[in-house]
Amino acid sequence: MAVNRPLIAGNWKMNGVRANLAEIDALVAGIAGADCDVAICPPATLISEAAGRAGDSGLMIGGQDCHTAANGAHTGDTAAEMIADAGGKLVIVGHSERRADHGEGDALVRAKAEAGWRAGLLVILCVGETEAHRRADQTLDVLSQQLAGSVPDGATADKLVVAYEPVWAIGTGLTPSNDDIQAAHAHIRGELVARLGPEAAGIRLLYGGSVKPGNASEILPLPDVDGALVGGASLKAADFLGIIAAA
Ligand code: PGA
Repeated sequence: MAVNRPLIAGNWKMNGVRANLAEIDALVAGIAGADCDVAICPPATLISEAAGRAGDSGLMIGGQDCHTAANGAHTGDTAAEMIADAGGKLVIVGHSERRADHGEGDALVRAKAEAGWRAGLLVILCVGETEAHRRADQTLDVLSQQLAGSVPDGATADKLVVAYEPVWAIGTGLTPSNDDIQAAHAHIRGELVARLGPEAAGIRLLYGGSVKPGNASEILPLPDVDGALVGGASLKAADFLGIIAAA
């Protein structure tokens, strides 16, 4: 396991209504004494109540996206300040589903990360190659480009987490080999240290893409893996606790 304290973060995506908050209660009960940080990013409609149920249990609640502005005429958007006001402690930016569904590019992702910091949130910034990039052997180049374009200056370990999520591994049941995950993470760490200095080695690097209880015990011990960003397997507390137990 990497030297940094692991973070296991769940991304519920556009899943979940109030009835699903029972899963938050089960997580609160299940993480007592866990040897890692744990977060859930539910839909925006549930952040406030999820944060209330999490209380001071250590379970962090966060958002899945934010606008760059603190307020204003942006119908349908959510400001980072609103996530914080609802009790959120973190926000995901640059998820590949936002990049694909909403055409978000690196410059916008960078501005969203800065907005998250402005509101005092921990930012989980996602990068990852497509299947086409992988076939063309461009994975590491794509990661370098995304990091250069989307990580703001001034990134530090207490403000930023980077999630490596191969687009082709999300929701597919496919994962890269352990060697490929480790190589990507070592590359990301190297890029961050080269740009930001040696202290950037403390920026946590999460692997995301079809993490399940069954493969977490292989992926989480890789030297440059500091945790996981989990989609489908975060929806049920029992599955998510299985991943937390492997951290
Ligand atoms: P998955 O999603 O675990 O369902 O593959 C991961 C993610 O998109 O963060």
